[in-house]
Amino acid sequence: MTVHFDCTMCGKCCHDLKLPLSVDEALVWAEKGHPIKLLVEALPWTGPPAENDGKAIHDYGRTFPEMCGDIPIRVAVLLVAWHQGACPYLLPDMRCGQYAVRPRVCRIYPLMARPFETLEPAKRLCPPEAWSADLPVLMINGEATDPQSAQTLADHRHAMIADVPRLRALCSLLGWSRAGFANEGFAVMTLDPARLAKALRCAGENRAAMSGMRNWTYVTNRQSTLAMLQAADCDAQLVSQDDGYLGSFPPER
Ligand code: SF4
Ligand code: SF4
Repeated sequence: MTVHFDCTMCGKCCHDLKLPLSVDEALVWAEKGHPIKLLVEALPWTGPPAENDGKAIHDYGRTFPEMCGDIPIRVAVLLVAWHQGACPYLLPDMRCGQYAVRPRVCRIYPLMARPFETLEPAKRLCPPEAWSADLPVLMINGEATDPQSAQTLADHRHAMIADVPRLRALCSLLGWSRAGFANEGFAVMTLDPARLAKALRCAGENRAAMSGMRNWTYVTNRQSTLAMLQAADCDAQLVSQDDGYLGSFPPER
């Protein structure tokens, strides 16, 4: 499949941000005083991924092992630049005010940041005229045609895996051990930017010392998920959006 694309400078992708950043990018963002949230989910884990299961291998790489009650889990942590309205760097003419040093996810949009996800133009923020067949080719058969974009995408995906030890150390340092059930929702931690920047620096320096296993708690807004987790002897709590939870499904009490 061939996808044609050119940016119309509509600015939609620079509003109401939820940008997944690498640790180094998050440190720069937080040091400038901009908010970052930790989004945390966890998968029950039954064993090493099969050699031919690329998605499971990727999930294994972007997570770290912990326990939830007696159940082994793997925890995924995202550092997300979270901003209501226009990005603090967006200029009035919809250009980026830090174009040369903008985060990788900004450079690659509208390509899909995560592997094993298919680009569906109708689900991206870009307007229909950005996808016209007379525009340059963005992708062929799921591969970016521009070598620089392809390299940036590869660098972003590599950072999401290389950062895992520092993210584990960060959770340990912050005393954070709550996770949403994977593919249902995230436990959300909101931090003052200065505190997060300090913790990220500390996590980088002390990650080996903060790699011990800890007990985690699942949080969910669905009674049925709570019952399923408790039946499996996992520590679990029913929470709401106000308790720091971002769910994909409506609450179920
Ligand atoms: S950093 Fe630049 S490209 Fe990224 S969201 Fe902000 S204004 Fe847009
Ligand atoms: S939403 Fe798409 S078309 Fe609009 S500024 Fe972002 S990349 Fe360009």
